[in-house]
Amino acid sequence: MNIRFFGAGFAGLATTALIWASGVSMASEQVYGLVIHGGAGTLTRENLPAETETALRKTLADALHAGHRILAGGGRSLDAVIASVSVLEDSPLFNAGKGAVYTWEETHELDASLMDGRDLAAGAVAAVRNVRSPIELARRVMDDSPHVMLAGVGAELFAQEVGVELVENSWFDTEFRLEQLHIAKQETDPAALLNPLAVENKFGTVGAVALDKDGNLAAATSTGGTTAKRWGRVGDSPLIGAGTYADNNSCAVSATGHGEYFIRHAVAHDICARLAYQKVSLAEAAEYVVMEKLADAGGDGGVIAIDRDGNIAMPFNTEGMYRGHRLGADDPVVRIFKEE
Ligand code: ASP
Repeated sequence: MNIRFFGAGFAGLATTALIWASGVSMASEQVYGLVIHGGAGTLTRENLPAETETALRKTLADALHAGHRILAGGGRSLDAVIASVSVLEDSPLFNAGKGAVYTWEETHELDASLMDGRDLAAGAVAAVRNVRSPIELARRVMDDSPHVMLAGVGAELFAQEVGVELVENSWFDTEFRLEQLHIAKQETDPAALLNPLAVENKFGTVGAVALDKDGNLAAATSTGGTTAKRWGRVGDSPLIGAGTYADNNSCAVSATGHGEYFIRHAVAHDICARLAYQKVSLAEAAEYVVMEKLADAGGDGGVIAIDRDGNIAMPFNTEGMYRGHRLGADDPVVRIFKEE
């Protein structure tokens, strides 16, 4: 009997598995699902105004809806993760696209990447200043260039050639992020300044992972990077294997946190590799990497992950992580704080 096993608490997925009733097998739809994040950080209930919380939850729900609709209609996981990430990029509330943080020089430099678990195809862009949707450009790098990653001016020349929308760098200006830059510039401890999560409210990198009805996994991540970054600093988000990874043989992962640690520990790939080589569960692999390996090293942050059986994991070692999931025909779930 081909019954799949699912992570505890996700009964809706189980209802889409092969069901045996009165000795008759009813092959129902293949499992599918989507998990998103909007960044990890030090936010607590006390310092999040009610109206901001409502707006955040609504945008996260909209992002879930955009991706889930594609999956429910039999679409590809790659299209679903891009649809979800695009909604979050368009919102000023998240540190990606419109809401990107400021560099030391009061400009914006954006990074994004995506990966298709079906064939390990991947696309990434780093330090782009004028691309409205970096995740859309990452898709074009994957589809329309022979490369995996393009950076800076060259990436923008490519964007122009393939007709991806360009905007003035000031299009990404927001008062809230400028205030964060001013706070960051007052920070005298260089270690704290380098930690993207050290300044209050430094949430915001966005990501999505999905499993479609054909059993294909995909992952996508988009960010403005870290407030007050200098010298062309690029974090883990556009790096395949660090901030993003997807392989149909194991799982799909999108990360958020102190990028330098996620790069050194090749976090996204490490989680997938543990599934493939050690045959441990997704929960075990993700939990170990985020809560032990990274935490012991001093790396703040979290990940979202989904495996080929539709199990999901969302561990984070910070106060909170904006996150949500929608599995099969289940209701959408959106969470912000640790205790909820
Ligand atoms: N990982 C991102 C970076 O280091 C920042 C974040 O996730 O908040 O660029």
